[in-house]
Order: sequence, then C-alpha cells, then structure tokens
Amino acid sequence: MNASRILIIEDEKKISDVVAAYLEKDGFIVDTAQTGCDGLRMIVNCPDLVILDLMLPDMDGEDICRMIRGSSDVPVIMLTAKNREYDKLGGFQAGADDYVVKPFSPKELVARVRARLRKTLTDNSRTVSFNNGMLLIDTQKREVVLEQKPLVLTPTEFKLLMAFINNIQRPLNREQLIGIVQGYDFDGMDRIIDAHIKNLRQKIEKDTRRPELIKTVYGVGYVFTGTPDEK
Ligand code: CA
Repeated sequence: MNASRILIIEDEKKISDVVAAYLEKDGFIVDTAQTGCDGLRMIVNCPDLVILDLMLPDMDGEDICRMIRGSSDVPVIMLTAKNREYDKLGGFQAGADDYVVKPFSPKELVARVRARLRKTLTDNSRTVSFNNGMLLIDTQKREVVLEQKPLVLTPTEFKLLMAFINNIQRPLNREQLIGIVQGYDFDGMDRIIDAHIKNLRQKIEKDTRRPELIKTVYGVGYVFTGTPDEK
C-alpha cells in the first residue's frame, strides 16, 4: 500500500514541525499549511487525512472543516486548545471525526491518525444513491453513475455535487458555493458558479429545462432535491 498523505493545517510552526516529524518517521507523507486558505487549496491534493487546528489567523477551524466537508469525506482530526464540551460539539457538528486537545503528545496524535485511517479503509466504499437508484455516487472513489452510465465530472463539478448531497433540501447560496469551489471569494465568481452548475446539470439531469436534482432558488442559489434511497 502507498504511504498515506497527511495534511497539517496549523499556524504554530513549532507544533506543525513536531507533528510532521513524528508522522514522517512513521512513514507518512506530510504536507503543511499555515493558513486556512492555503489548507483549503491543498485539499485538491487529496490527502488521506487532515489535522486541522481550530485557531488559525485567517479563518475559523470549524468553518474550514465545513468547507472541506463540502467536497470531501477525508477524515479530519481537530486540534483544539479548548477543552470545553461545546467546543467539541462544534467541531463534530462541523464534520470533524476526532479531536485532540492541546497540549498533546505527538505519539498519541499519530496513534489517533492510524486508528482513523484504519477505520476509513474498512468503509472506504461509500455509495449513496438517489431517486430509486437513478443517481449513484461513490464518495470515496469519486465515481458518479446516472442511470447505469458512468459520468465524467470535473473536480469542481464533483465538489459542487458533494456539497449539494450534504445539504439535501437546503438551498446553498452562490457565496457558499463559491467558498466550496474556491475557498475564497472574488468578483465575477457568481457567473462562474452558474456556469459550473449548468455543466453539472447537463451531466446529471435528464432534462435540463426541468431539473429534478438541482433546482434554482430564485434570489438565493441552488438546492439539491434528490431523494436519498434507503440503505
Ligand atoms: Ca493556532
């Protein structure tokens, strides 16, 4: 098996260096980011696990976690300096899989990383199905099948689709979609989002004039209205 790739998003270089050294000694490939923005950009390298500090200079760790969750099922271990119940809860609500309270022992963190990766391996094929099997999405292998035909989605289209299926019946506005696609906002992104949605619809909708899966919410954005099939 190839070495697993771990992304550390942590602004305190001392901590990130120590953790990286321990992980590398254990055979992991480690990438580091010092800001939330850089971390989100590095998600495209498909890390096997993310170690995410809750307090970063530019963004809140929980927000970053939510954004990662918009496009990826990658396990996230949150580093938190706080040890209060509501903080843990906030982390889990944002989609973190585990958390470690600072100060922590790097050995313990590496053990948690290993445990989490083992767990991921055992359920690494996560297929979700919508509208009586019409649309199948393997979130791990990133495969999408529409009426038995495999689709080729661009990474952006896949990210958007993942964001939609994680928010069924909940409208997402263009700003949120921009955050999911880019990790940050800039002028002119609205039209780019609309163009991505148009392309995605062309692939997953039977009739783009009467979309059944991604509907427009006027004045807001878009909403995924597919019905998840019972497992
Ligand atoms: Ca920090």
